[in-house]
Amino acid sequence: MKYYPGPVGKLIGELSKLPGIGQKTARRLSFYILRRSRAEVKVLAEAIIGARENTKYCSICNNLTEKDPCEYCRSEERDQKTICVVESPKDVIAMEKTGEFNGLYHVLHGAISPMDGIGPDDIKIKGLLKRLEDDVKEVIVATDPNAEGDATAMYIAKLLKPLDMKVTRIAHGLPVGGDLEFADEITLSKALEGRRIIKY
Ligand code: ZN
Repeated sequence: MKYYPGPVGKLIGELSKLPGIGQKTARRLSFYILRRSRAEVKVLAEAIIGARENTKYCSICNNLTEKDPCEYCRSEERDQKTICVVESPKDVIAMEKTGEFNGLYHVLHGAISPMDGIGPDDIKIKGLLKRLEDDVKEVIVATDPNAEGDATAMYIAKLLKPLDMKVTRIAHGLPVGGDLEFADEITLSKALEGRRIIKY
């Protein structure tokens, strides 16, 4: 970054640390920012800080929220006996968009991936077990339709084996190797509808 004045080099450096942003994009974004008015840049900077400071993770389901517990866990309209397990808060939004699910969520923040050294203790599974002490009838595993998502689903099915509840996995109408977040609403609601039992 030696060709750029110090502060600009720093901005490019920081932006290039973001996922999916390479040096070239970081440079483009930086010059875009430099062309904006001070007021516009302030709004952007404050949005970043505000989002970071005013969101936390729900102490029950681990979803991103402004208030703890989150709106789903607090809601009395939602079916407390069904819990949908997903990998990330983005998947909660994808499920909500289907309009087909009215239960509660549990966000794992990852998936089991032995190849990457990520085991069950590295994702938020323990809290799920604790929640199941309440009267839960079905756990729907909606992890991504890829190797890691499948491994996680199998692990959960095994873990919940001694417990008295149904465990289902959403159907593979979803593109294999894909990401729940990018599935369209119709595909995802079909996948939810066609879920199969992986444990009685
Ligand atoms: Zn919650």
